[in-house]
Amino acid sequence: MTEHDDNAAPRAHDPDCLFCKIVDGRIPSRKVYEDEELLAFHDIHPWAPVHFLLVPKRHIVSMAHVTESDAPLLGRLMALAPRLAREQGCNPYPAGGFRMVVNTGAEGGQEVHHLHVHVIGGPRPWLKG
Ligand code: 5GP
Ligand code: ZN
Repeated sequence: MTEHDDNAAPRAHDPDCLFCKIVDGRIPSRKVYEDEELLAFHDIHPWAPVHFLLVPKRHIVSMAHVTESDAPLLGRLMALAPRLAREQGCNPYPAGGFRMVVNTGAEGGQEVHHLHVHVIGGPRPWLKG
């Protein structure tokens, strides 16, 4: 992102957003990974032995709000997920593997309106999915 990106500023941070509060440390989380742009933390209600959320630190509301300028950020996020999945205990492909889910909007089942990718895996059975 450049400082001339007009889209960046208004959605950089939402003080009322749950995941912005986690990014800021105002709400505690069990951190899996952090860098300048991305944060991963364990889901508070895991469905499976491995269940963490990978989020851009910047407040992007949902996949429906993604623009082409977000492609490098989301590319990094997607490329990081398999490494974190393995580090968190997902078994190797193809017998192991993991599931990545991005709920989007009410009909898509999105409850927290800050873009997040669920990374779910580990030995079955799982509670859901
Ligand atoms: P969504 O339904 O929006 O795709 O998923 C939101 C996820 O956030 C749910 O799986 C839920 O368990 C998780 N979640 C909700 N509140 C918190 C919280 O305060 N801390 C953590 N770590 N996860 C949360
Ligand atoms: Zn947010």
